[in-house]
Amino acid sequence: MFIKYLRPKNLSQKVMRVTFSIYLGVTFLVTSVQFLTEYIKTQDSILSELEQLEQTVRNPIATSMWQYNQKQMDALVEGLLKMPIIVGVDIFDKHEEKIISKRSYTEGAAPLSVFDKKSDLAWELNDKKITLGALTLYSSSEVVLDRVLFGFALIAITAIIKLSVLFWLFVWAFDRFLARPLKELMSQVDEVQLSQDFSKRINLSITENNEISKLQDHMNNMLSAMEKGRAQLLEDEQAKRNWLEDAVAKRTEELQILNEKLKDLAANDSLTGALNRGNFFETARHLFTLSQRQKSPASFILMDLDHFKIVNDTYGHFIGDKVLIHFAHTIQDFLGKSDLFGRLGGEEFAIFLPDMGIDHACRLADKLRKAIGSATLEVDGKTITYTVSFGVTSSETKDNSIDELFKRADLKLYGAKEKGRDRVER
Ligand code: GH3
Ligand code: MG
Ligand code: MG
Repeated sequence: MFIKYLRPKNLSQKVMRVTFSIYLGVTFLVTSVQFLTEYIKTQDSILSELEQLEQTVRNPIATSMWQYNQKQMDALVEGLLKMPIIVGVDIFDKHEEKIISKRSYTEGAAPLSVFDKKSDLAWELNDKKITLGALTLYSSSEVVLDRVLFGFALIAITAIIKLSVLFWLFVWAFDRFLARPLKELMSQVDEVQLSQDFSKRINLSITENNEISKLQDHMNNMLSAMEKGRAQLLEDEQAKRNWLEDAVAKRTEELQILNEKLKDLAANDSLTGALNRGNFFETARHLFTLSQRQKSPASFILMDLDHFKIVNDTYGHFIGDKVLIHFAHTIQDFLGKSDLFGRLGGEEFAIFLPDMGIDHACRLADKLRKAIGSATLEVDGKTITYTVSFGVTSSETKDNSIDELFKRADLKLYGAKEKGRDRVER
C-alpha cells in the first residue's frame, strides 16, 4: 500500500496521496508548534526555578562575601552546581569583576544554548542596603530538553498513531468510495463493449447518491439511446431488405411472365395461336420417330384455304385475318391433346396425328372440311363463308422422315385444288 502511495497508478491513489500529504504536512507543522511551545514553557519554568534558587542562595552568598569567607562561598557554588538545572555560576563584585566563575561542563562539551538569571547581591547594614555584586545562574537547552523529552515523546507517539490510523482510514475510504466503484464501473462498461449488447445496464453496488451514481445514470441513458439507435437501424435495414426482396420477387414474377410470353411467341403463331412452322415440324419430327420406332401409324393432313386471295381482295386483310383465326379455332375444337396443329405459312396449315391411320385421318379431315364449309362468319355486318382443301397421307414403313409425309400430303393437296377445291384427297 505504501508503494502504491508513493507511485500512484490511478485517480483514487493520486487523490489519496495529495490529501494525505497535506494532512502529513499540517500534522508536522502543528506538532512542531507544539514542540516549540512546550520548549518555551519549560524554559520559562526553569528560569523561574533559577530565580527561586537565587532568592534562596542570595543571602548566604552575600554573607560569605561580606565576611570574606571564600571557602564558604566556594562550597555554596559547588552545591549550586550539583543541582541538575544549573550548569554554571558567576559571582561578580560591585565593580562587575568576576570573583567566581564555574561551569559544570567542559569547554569541548558546551551545550547548544545557555540562558541565565541574574540578581544583585546586597548586605543590609543599619537598614542600609550595601550592594556587594551580582549572582548569575546558568541553565542550558539540554536541561530544558531533558525536561520536555517525555512530553515530546508523547506528542510524537500520538502524532504517529494518529497518522497511521488515518492513513489506513484514508486507504479504506478512498478504496470504498472511489477506487472500487470506478473499477466496477470500468469492468461493467468493458462487459457491455465486449458483448455489444446495448440492452445491458450498468448496475453498481454503491447506493450513495454521488457523482459516480450520476455517471452510472448518464451512461445508462447513453446505452438506452444507443439501443434505440441500433433498433432503428435494424428496423430500417429489415425494411430495406423486405423492399428489396419484394422488388426481386416482383421482378422475377415479371420475368417469368415475360419468359412464358417469349416461349409462347417462339412456339406459337401470334395470329391464330397454332404452333409456328419451326415448332410444329420439330415436335412432329420427334413424334414421328417415336411412332416409327413403335411401328404405330401416324397421319399428316395439309390444309390450304381456297381462293383466300379473293377473300382478302373482297373484304380486306383485316377480315382475312379474322377468317384465319376462325379457321384455326374451328380446327382446334376437333383435335385431341396429343394432336399437333401448326401454321406452315400464309393460309396453309397442317395437322400431325400420332397413332392414327389413314382412314381415321380422312374421316377427321372430311369432318373438318364440312364444319368449315358450313360455318358462317359475321364481321362488321358482313357474312363470310369460305372453304378449305385437304391433302391427307399416313406414315409408311419406308418413310425416313416427316418431310416425306409432308411432300406426299402437299401432292394430295395440289390434287384437291386441281379437282375443284373444298375436298379431301388421300
Ligand atoms: P388457292 O385456292 O389456289 O390456294 O388460291 P389462293 O388465293 O388461296 O392462293 P394464293 O397462294 O395465291 O393466295 C394466298 C393469299 O393468302 C395471298 C396472301 O395475301 C394471303 N395471305 C397470306 N398470309 C395472310 C395473312 O396472314 N393474312 C391475310 N389476311 N392474308 C394472308
Ligand atoms: Mg389458298
Ligand atoms: Mg396457299
